[in-house]
This record gives sequence, structure tokens and C-alpha cells, in this order.
Amino acid sequence: MSDLVSRKLDVIENADPMGRGPDDPWRDFRTVERLDMELHFQFKHSFGKLSPFFLALEERRLMGTRCTECGKVWMPPRVHCGDDLAICEWVELPGEGVLEAASLSAYTLTTGGGEDTLVLGYVTLDGADAAMLQQVRNCDSPAPGLRVKAVWAERPVEHPMQLFWFEPA
Ligand SMILES: [Zn+2]
Repeated sequence: MSDLVSRKLDVIENADPMGRGPDDPWRDFRTVERLDMELHFQFKHSFGKLSPFFLALEERRLMGTRCTECGKVWMPPRVHCGDDLAICEWVELPGEGVLEAASLSAYTLTTGGGEDTLVLGYVTLDGADAAMLQQVRNCDSPAPGLRVKAVWAERPVEHPMQLFWFEPA
């Protein structure tokens, strides 16, 4: 293998699992070159009908949805009720609730992984019938049943979901 391509790792010869030898019709496709590539992607992503939730976060408001049929309050919001598929309407929820479960996470998409260790918790906001997943901070013992409150970011963030987290109330 040449040294001219710096990111070239190696060439792999994959064996035919059926052992056909020269009669293998896929013979030419079993030689695979591996490259060490760094790829960066940028997406323009629409939140569609859920946009009001993300826009309200900038105003430090937590918006859920209420089913117009059964009255169930969804948080995180759902456009349609998960139980009866009726269209939901927007309702503002208070910034306090109950921690249902929590776990220590050494990797999340929003941090890009690495050395950060986060506590992620499922929180049912007062008035909601479902729990939302969000970061829990400044909490030594994130046990189920703990009362928590939303705390809002003071500095610009990269993603709307980084605008708030939960801490003990
Ligand atoms: Zn419903």
C-alpha cells in the first residue's frame, strides 16, 4: 500500500462466506479500502408543528399539549394524542414537577461525548400526564419522588433544549 494517501488505513480482503473461490460473483467487491475520514454535517432542521414548544423555551415557558378528546396533557408535547390520535392544543405548564427516574450518563448527543458526566432524568411537570427527559443538575441524590424546578440558561446555547434543566426545588 502506498504512503501517498495519509488517511488510508488499510485494505481488507473479505472472505466469501460461501467459499466459492474463483466462481464467487462478488469477488471484486470483497476488497475494501478503509480510510480514516473526518466528516462534518450541518442540517437545517424543522421542528414542524412542535415549533411552539421550542420557541417558548426562549421566553422561559414550558409548553405542553392537551388532548381535545381525553384531556391528557403531554409533555414533551405531542401534536396528536398518543392514546386516541385526537389533535392536541397548546397549554403552558409550570416549571416544577417530580423526578420519576434518573441515570448517570457519560455520553449524550448534545455534549458530543467525552469527559462530561450528566444526570438525565424523567420529570413529570405538575399538571402533565407524561414525563419528559431532561438534564438534572446540582443534585447529589436524584431519587424518584424528588421535587424539581426548571432553571434557565443565562448564556446563549447551541440547541433550544439546552435553555433549561432541572434542579432540586
Ligand atoms: Zn386523547
